[in-house]
Amino acid sequence: MRRPFVAGNWKMHGTRAENADLIEALLLGVPAQPTAEIAVCPPFVYLWEAARQLKASSVSLGAQSVCAESIGAFTGEVSAAMLKDVGCRYVIVGHSERRALYKEDDALVARKFLAAQSQGLTPILCVGESLDERERGQTMQVVSRQLTAVLDLAGIKAMQDAVVAYEPVWAIGTGKNATPAQAQEVHAHIRAEVAARDGKIAAALRILYGGSVKAGNAREIFSMQDVDGGLIGGASLKVDEFLKICAAAQAH
Ligand code: PEP
Repeated sequence: MRRPFVAGNWKMHGTRAENADLIEALLLGVPAQPTAEIAVCPPFVYLWEAARQLKASSVSLGAQSVCAESIGAFTGEVSAAMLKDVGCRYVIVGHSERRALYKEDDALVARKFLAAQSQGLTPILCVGESLDERERGQTMQVVSRQLTAVLDLAGIKAMQDAVVAYEPVWAIGTGKNATPAQAQEVHAHIRAEVAARDGKIAAALRILYGGSVKAGNAREIFSMQDVDGGLIGGASLKVDEFLKICAAAQAH
């Protein structure tokens, strides 16, 4: 049985005061022992404060990226050990904005995945095709390539402590979500790719959908067989909306 999971990716938003309000409201609305696991991923500089506020709550903390190197002269970077030190449990790797804007390729994403796990963090590995790739019929090929880069470097056992997020690039921040059937098709493909290496690990792997999830479409998307929750961008900044999405995952 896979425990549903909803993670909020706050991206580069918020102030100390806004974050404190958001977390306070979130903690008021989250059940003491939610069936779905809930996490928030604030920007690096706010992680420590968020960790203190989330302490003793059921909400986990995640970061939005991590350096592939462990220590040293890497100006501006943040290591997995540092994220662990401030209380993170999760870290997003391979988000399409990092891939597109900061030229993170499959090999680098795989190294980040390993760096995260080396410090006991659970990576949330994002994969997904662009609109152009979907229109050319390359969706499965792209997703397989992104996944294989990680599986080849980290090995199948690494997927025992990882989460995959299918995030079609054309659905991120556009208001245009994948249909439940489109999401299910790719999620089933991801699970099959993992199952080809280890069926048991594939059956237990949580695969989230991300891309314009809102309170209004979450329930339908999360009801699909291979969708185990969501990675939520814009809607995670609106507490009412986010709580409704979390509730939709609880009901799954
Ligand atoms: C994301 O960036 O991970 C995301 C899913 O964004 P949004 O929900 O805003 O589409």
